[in-house]
Amino acid sequence: MLKPSYIRVIIDRSIHRELDYLVPETLVERIDVGSRVRVPFREKSALATVVALLPESNAQGIRPIEAVLGDKPILSKPLLELARWMSDYYCCPIETVMRSLLPQVIRRAEVGWKKQLFVRRAREITFVDVEKLRKRAPKQAELLEALARLTEPVAAADFLRQHSLDNQTLRAVVKHGFAVMEEQAVQRDPHGDEKFIATENLVLNEEQTAALRMVQDALAAPNESKPILLHGVTGSGKTEIYLQAIKLALAQKRNAIVLVPEISLTPQTVERFKSRFAEVQDDVAVLHSHLSEGERHDEWHKIHSGRARIVIGARSAVFAPLENLGLIVVDEEHETSYKQEEAPRYHARDVAVLRGKIEKCVVLLGTATPSLESYFNATRGKYQLATLTKRVDENQMPLIRIVDLRQERRKEKAAAILAGKLRDAIADRLEKREQTILFLNRRGFSTSLLCSNCGESRDCPNCSVALTFHRGAARLSCHLCGHTAAVPKKCPDCGEDALIYSGFGTEKVEANVTQIFPQAVVRRMDADSMTRKDAYRETLRNFRAGKIDILVGTQMIAKGLHFPNVTLVGIINADLALHLPDFRAGERTFQLLTQVSGRAGRGETAGEVFVQTYTPFSPSIQFARHHDFAGYFQQELEFRERCDFPPFKHAVLITVRSAHEARSKFSAGTLARRLKEALPNEFILGDPTPAPLEKLQGQFRFHILIRGEAIMRLSRLIREVLDKLPFPEDVAVAVDVDPYQLL
Ligand code: ADP
Ligand code: ZN
Repeated sequence: MLKPSYIRVIIDRSIHRELDYLVPETLVERIDVGSRVRVPFREKSALATVVALLPESNAQGIRPIEAVLGDKPILSKPLLELARWMSDYYCCPIETVMRSLLPQVIRRAEVGWKKQLFVRRAREITFVDVEKLRKRAPKQAELLEALARLTEPVAAADFLRQHSLDNQTLRAVVKHGFAVMEEQAVQRDPHGDEKFIATENLVLNEEQTAALRMVQDALAAPNESKPILLHGVTGSGKTEIYLQAIKLALAQKRNAIVLVPEISLTPQTVERFKSRFAEVQDDVAVLHSHLSEGERHDEWHKIHSGRARIVIGARSAVFAPLENLGLIVVDEEHETSYKQEEAPRYHARDVAVLRGKIEKCVVLLGTATPSLESYFNATRGKYQLATLTKRVDENQMPLIRIVDLRQERRKEKAAAILAGKLRDAIADRLEKREQTILFLNRRGFSTSLLCSNCGESRDCPNCSVALTFHRGAARLSCHLCGHTAAVPKKCPDCGEDALIYSGFGTEKVEANVTQIFPQAVVRRMDADSMTRKDAYRETLRNFRAGKIDILVGTQMIAKGLHFPNVTLVGIINADLALHLPDFRAGERTFQLLTQVSGRAGRGETAGEVFVQTYTPFSPSIQFARHHDFAGYFQQELEFRERCDFPPFKHAVLITVRSAHEARSKFSAGTLARRLKEALPNEFILGDPTPAPLEKLQGQFRFHILIRGEAIMRLSRLIREVLDKLPFPEDVAVAVDVDPYQLL
């Protein structure tokens, strides 16, 4: 008789603890680490993931599991190891980590394969059979003829459509025993109706060859390879290197994951990858947030079953259940959208690096503007560095001109949205039939509505920000919580007819540009104008086709788009990102200016960029203007070191929030005192302070910022303090390790 065995599981509930169960003998064979099981929990059943097989257990009142789900573990051992690491590093319960690792549709196991009716011939069909029906039921005769020619089962719907026949006819034929209908599982392929033409490897230039060789060497020695940081200016051919690197991995019979920021997971990007690997198109799986549950289910299983060999996706694709991983590419590694802003608050680039270490695969981080952290790692020898200094087409880097808005203001009294020089440049492009992009990272028409009599502004009742006026929708709206309100005619506070609209967003830029250049075709691309499903694709298509002269937009247009005919880029206000209370403000501004500038002059003609700013001499702007990454890195690094900020120290931001201001403040104070007792001196503990965005969605927020080098230890100490401290029911505490959102 087999010895009864035990398992340890993590159930899909927040109980902060692992539980042991007994495995009935009949199920022993089917279970392994990573299997999904159904177990009794309290009075009900719960789903759980197996994390260990045990020869024995000394847990009290142990109960047997109810069922094993699926025929193969859902989670590989390396992924489980990754989950443990994330739990420790990000100071986050493992069951919360699991929620990110396994898509909901997989965890709940409710959505299955899509079933479709197929039709096949049930017996030989003769000439006589057909003729017998010809008079009485000509449709059926027609169907029989088609059926006779069938060599394999086909989807009933397709079959009927092809022959312009209806369901009723098919049912009659089935009834007469000529055909049978069967359900078959089919795969939902979000890109199924597209055909791709295979593209060949391009001949690499010298710099590209050196970079690819680095990947090749790393693939050859997976045990000792360090992550590779590929720093290449915009248009230097990084994507071509990703494509060829993947080919190398595939040739070794290993698989690859490509992470791209959600925002640049455009049809254009996906197409580039699918085309290169057109012979193996089915092997490419795509994961992004717009998939339906069914599509997500199918893509996930395609990966899990080993059919997909390349996965392209946004942040969470770093958890794609690919086995035998050879390469993880992280494109635009500096992008903050790789950071998840809810628990587990992980950074996909950092998780990729760790997964690479666990699975002994090569990690390739690419960007035109490396994050300070990554570049610092490269200078310290933790990463290898490959550099591409030239654009592939040998085009000049765009010429960046700074427009000092202070001077403009002196010249034109009322500040215009577009300075005179930028207006002239646009007029010039219109004449030459070249295209312009205008960038402003703020939606809406006016950013606030003030009363010139009493001075009150229309603020969000839930958040400490002003409501934005949207002219198209004719409403005021809060960009943080979505609250909307009618636009008052008179000041609701003092009753005077003295409301003034101030500040501007993309909607007003569009209106302004249309007014100045009535002959131009102007389109806007932001979250407000792109609500229709295909609007994004359509606008880009029209822009590419030259049907749009001027494209106005938010960050939606800042990245990864290639338009050879764009020769002018205007950055309407470079100061927006610069003055946020965030130690990364300078870094973000530098990145943004460099990235947006990269949209200009990708064709034959050199590009020109106008940067409008009130602080023309700020280092981020000056270094970006001279395309001087090294200079910018050096000065930014000095600042970070002086202030004990990353990459010299890790930061942990704790947010305490509650609908009651006093309770939030009190809890933050208590927590800070406990932390002070628990943390040794090597950690720098800040005082609890109201968050810069003090009120958000009706919650009052307090921050505690801690910095230190030994992040694993710091995480553990914080966890211990939090576990012992009872917070009132209506107070929530969030721990953010390596935070990117300091508001
Ligand atoms: P990046 O990703 O660095 O912005 P891309 O990989 O998109 O740059 O390359 C820019 C353009 O140059 C693309 O149209 C690409 O097809 C082309 N390209 C890249 N490498 C080469 C090469 N070695 N020879 C010719 N064209 C290339
Ligand atoms: Zn709000």
